[in-house]
Amino acid sequence: MIAEIIINTTAKRLQQTFSYTVPDGLAVRVGSRVLVPFGHRREEGIVVALHEQLDEPADFTLKPVEGLLSTQTGFQEEMIRTAIWIRDYYVCNLSEALRLFMIDKKGLVRQEILSVGPAAPVSPEGRQLQAYVADKGSREKGSLVRRFGRDLVETALARQVLTSRTYYKNQIADKMEDWLSFVHDDDEDILHGRRRQQELLQALKEKGEGAVSYWQGQGYSRDLMRRLCATGLARWSQRPARTTNILPTLSGDAPFTLTPEQRQAVKVIGSDEQGKTYVLHGITGSGKTEVYMQLASQVLKEGRQVVVLVPEIALTGQIVRRFLRRFGDDVVVMHSQLSQGEKRNNWLRMQNGTSHICIGARSAVFTAAQSIGLFIVDEAHDSSYKQDEAPRYHAVAVTRQRAAYYGCPVILGSATPALGDYYKALQGDYVLVELTERVGQRPLPSVQVVDMRDELARGNYRVVSDCLLNLLEETLAARQQAIILLNRRGFSTFVMCRKCGYVVKCDTCDVAMVYHRQAAHLRCHYCDAEKPVPTVCPSCGSKYIKFFGSGTEKVEQQLHELLPSARIIRLDQDTTSRKHSGDRIIEAFRRHEYDILLGTQMVAKGHDFPGVSAVGILSADSLLNIPAYWAGERTFQLLTQAAGRAGRGDIPGRVVMQTYAPDHYVIQCAARQDYRAFYDQEIQFRKELGYPPFQEMAKILVQDESEEQVWRKANDVAAALNSWNGDHGDEVAVIGPYEDVIKKIRNKYRLVLSLTGKDLTAIKKAMQRIPACWQTGVLIDVDPV
Ligand code: ADP
Ligand code: ZN
Ligand code: ZN
Repeated sequence: MIAEIIINTTAKRLQQTFSYTVPDGLAVRVGSRVLVPFGHRREEGIVVALHEQLDEPADFTLKPVEGLLSTQTGFQEEMIRTAIWIRDYYVCNLSEALRLFMIDKKGLVRQEILSVGPAAPVSPEGRQLQAYVADKGSREKGSLVRRFGRDLVETALARQVLTSRTYYKNQIADKMEDWLSFVHDDDEDILHGRRRQQELLQALKEKGEGAVSYWQGQGYSRDLMRRLCATGLARWSQRPARTTNILPTLSGDAPFTLTPEQRQAVKVIGSDEQGKTYVLHGITGSGKTEVYMQLASQVLKEGRQVVVLVPEIALTGQIVRRFLRRFGDDVVVMHSQLSQGEKRNNWLRMQNGTSHICIGARSAVFTAAQSIGLFIVDEAHDSSYKQDEAPRYHAVAVTRQRAAYYGCPVILGSATPALGDYYKALQGDYVLVELTERVGQRPLPSVQVVDMRDELARGNYRVVSDCLLNLLEETLAARQQAIILLNRRGFSTFVMCRKCGYVVKCDTCDVAMVYHRQAAHLRCHYCDAEKPVPTVCPSCGSKYIKFFGSGTEKVEQQLHELLPSARIIRLDQDTTSRKHSGDRIIEAFRRHEYDILLGTQMVAKGHDFPGVSAVGILSADSLLNIPAYWAGERTFQLLTQAAGRAGRGDIPGRVVMQTYAPDHYVIQCAARQDYRAFYDQEIQFRKELGYPPFQEMAKILVQDESEEQVWRKANDVAAALNSWNGDHGDEVAVIGPYEDVIKKIRNKYRLVLSLTGKDLTAIKKAMQRIPACWQTGVLIDVDPV
């Protein structure tokens, strides 16, 4: 057997695969992580393919694979295939793509251990070194190099004064958990008179098995469990522990009787046999989560696994809790705040099939599994599903790729589906399933659009319109809750001199700095740099330096002044930087410890707050002005999602949308919460201008510290692309280079080239013409959002 192996490193020159022979008796399979000799060293390799023999005979003898590393965290064949797809689709390295699936990103820890060798030292320093090693037993190479210098250590090794062995160690040991499982109840009579043990055995028989901690929660003592196991009717064992690490359960979540629409959705998706993609378009409050859960339980009954993706785990704790309550031990929750060991345990539980449901944000799409039966992407339109660093994958595209292997369905759930997904559903590539009514016949909220120009004309210069203020007063008087959305954090959005017009900008980015009042400094929202607040203009020295624009902090202060008795809590990046703080704020608001939840787009993330009857949207058009083809889509999604937080309980919802563009179709459609009307208009616009989904698209970002150089580089790239184009009948439209929305970030100038065409393969072929010498600082983004 010949193994085709890629070295686990992102070094460009090692991106090709290398061939090794597989010694008899070594259980190497596709996906194994193995130890291979490589040059003068040993490296970790990943087996990407196995062949009976080489395609062409090599003119040198192949070296053998030396051993298997970490049998547990190897890859499955499906993962290798998906990684290869990611490499080809998103134009990245294979090892970068493979690393997405790994939990120990750095690979296994390699240590070189030195001990005393057969030769005698010649120099005094050599004698000292050897004596030290002899005294200590063996020593890790790095520590000896630090103590004695590299030259001496290398010489000692070369002269066999010292010898070296390589160790690979896994950093993380599995955390174990006690489990209790049912064995049999044939001679149950032996439990005669022991009522509690009989009950436990019965419960075990019904549930099958469960963590000891679970049974303790059910009121059985460990002692009782031990005694039952002593009879042989049940078994006590240890398994890798599961970690959820989310705040404790707060309220009950009994299964519901489905509404007719929900039942229909479960029926259609549940009878999928071809592994199709379903766009579950359910208006806000239509009960999508219940549909997910009922479908998940069907999949579990077949012994297969479910992957559930949510936009941001810290803000979507509620859906996680619902799954935990219903499926208990079967759920693992993946999020960035888990320790390495916790991540590994969760990953292994999915890999071994101990758990059947994995919930997490974007990266959970790479979870290991035995056999996946369903992928669920909640709020599938959310932009957080696209990774904004290499490899720039989109989690929805990856789920579809993995699902194709398993032949299982994918659900893209949303009240505001991504335009491209909805288009594919109407075209018949995906299947459209709709939930058009809110659960319990609750009406959608009524929306009032307020023209802020009128407000100014009437002399109201506050951020809150009179109309919204009235609504808030009424809401508070009725002891109900309100949400206020403002998509800008900080206090004032920029600081400007009234006399000379100077705006305080970040030193390394081309953006205005934002005043944060609580922290009492100016901050750059792109690189997090801070500056003290100036008292005089740094440019002309005048005192007329003023704060302009308003962020969430300022609105919070104004609201305190306008509504002194209201209990207000703010939800934005500044208040959620600490672990679990987002979840805590959301849960405190749900318990009605606060009357008003004020924040950035975080307040619109699918939350279900039955107490909220009012929503205020302060500047509905702030996103509309971004010069990008998706600005309308994003705005519509945000407004509709925000409005949809109102009226999910017994009281009908009311929404005030403040805008400077009340007649804009995006605002109008969002006010009516009419997805279809928005879609029809927007898709027309995309078609006329040749934007996705009508054309394929890729973006090239060129960066350089010198402004001159960045233009030179970008123009060269453009020339290369155009020359390819010239040879291929202008298949690809190249636009640019033009300056990015933010011209400079962290001292690097940014230019963009955008490529569109009917065929993505052509776009990628054109990109291969980019001169190799320009590849540093040139980032490729396929399907940019
Ligand atoms: P969506 O995600 O579609 O906005 P949710 O899944 O949050 O909606 O459901 C909205 C509310 O309706 C939740 O409080 C949920 O518990 C409740 N709900 C869902 N399905 C049913 C049902 N069949 N019967 C009663 N209540 C339901
Ligand atoms: Zn900056
Ligand atoms: Zn000035």
